[in-house]
Amino acid sequence: MSISNRSTHIRLTSHPEPGAVARHPIRWGAADPKARGPLIGSVTNPADRNVIGAHGGAYSLYRALAISARALNPLARPDLTNTHPTAGIGPHPQWADPHKIVSLDPYGHLVGEAFRDEIAGGIDIRPTIAVTKARLNMPEILAAMGAHRLAPDGTTLRASGDISVTKVAIDPVWHLPGVAARFDVSEKSLRRTLFEQTGGMFPELVTRPDMQVFLPPIGGMTVYIMGEIDALTDEKSRVSCRVHDECNGSDVFGSDICTCRPYLVHGIEECVKEAQKGGAGVIVYNRKEGRALGEVTKFLVYNARKRQEGGDQAATYFERTECVAGVQDARFQQLMPDVLHWLGIRRIDRLMSMSNMKYDAITGSGIEVVERVPIPPELVPPDANVELEAKKAAGYYTPGAKPDKAGLAAVKGRDLERF
Ligand SMILES: [Zn+2]
Repeated sequence: MSISNRSTHIRLTSHPEPGAVARHPIRWGAADPKARGPLIGSVTNPADRNVIGAHGGAYSLYRALAISARALNPLARPDLTNTHPTAGIGPHPQWADPHKIVSLDPYGHLVGEAFRDEIAGGIDIRPTIAVTKARLNMPEILAAMGAHRLAPDGTTLRASGDISVTKVAIDPVWHLPGVAARFDVSEKSLRRTLFEQTGGMFPELVTRPDMQVFLPPIGGMTVYIMGEIDALTDEKSRVSCRVHDECNGSDVFGSDICTCRPYLVHGIEECVKEAQKGGAGVIVYNRKEGRALGEVTKFLVYNARKRQEGGDQAATYFERTECVAGVQDARFQQLMPDVLHWLGIRRIDRLMSMSNMKYDAITGSGIEVVERVPIPPELVPPDANVELEAKKAAGYYTPGAKPDKAGLAAVKGRDLERF
């Protein structure tokens, strides 16, 4: 156990060999996985590597702990027998456009088959996407059935309240030239900033300009699909979609300061209805806690909001976030549409989101949005009105009038003494 093939010599970085031909070249945007080439993030066979970073995103650090604790053999390789996708996704034309998808590997779920021979030959190639099936059961869905908003159909929704879904886990894979283009910065500048802001965690960002793919140590996303997968790409079928950014406090624990779980569950309800009518529903769940600023920052902001003079109020909602975090939002919706293109979606008939940033990113990437569906007012917890009204004033979609200055000043949240 725990036999490493490493020497005692520590190599801080690798360098491109002048004139050398890459052993495993990556042609990002190629139309099939073989032509594109495998992504190899092996840490046990450095000569094969053609990406910066390690597999597993943020979990590569837990893998390191497991190896340190001698619980995991560093040379262990995944046995991919029977792990292949439960549903066929793609290939879609979008996969062959190097600019359409820059933050995930469109072939990430197919590597077990596409590179079977290479893997059998000892090359450490790992999936970055997994596709499986599941049943969901949420009390709000049972309540919706009790209120006769939803009826079981025996396929998508059962009498028990179980919803049948295809679910997909996706690790981030960044094609650095494409990511830089999305943010309108030079690739060189992006690489240097990533290197510096991670405390020099990935020296190859600055020493290996020939390596263009980075496996960033951040959370990925999960996609829940209701209905037939083919309905996502069939022009005659309808698609309902919610793109949701993680909010653990609300999503899991039902904390009432925001609309996250109510909107998420509303999205699921609408997706079930769409699937029952022969279309498809898609929930994209992005691990971007607290507007990608993290939960510590988020809770600090809550305190700053509740303790400010005049109490928690919609009028100063964004200011308080900016005071603590330096920015109002770090979610980068520029990269978000990639997963929709990966699914082959060209039109979303109903988008359950009021975010102008998400809407602009989706439509700006070439996907048509027919209808935007706001959260029903009865689902908004009273303390969440501060956030919702502030967002409406800042440009969030609302079919009603935007709150004016006096209206915003009147929206107050609960103070810290009343919890
Ligand atoms: Zn929330």
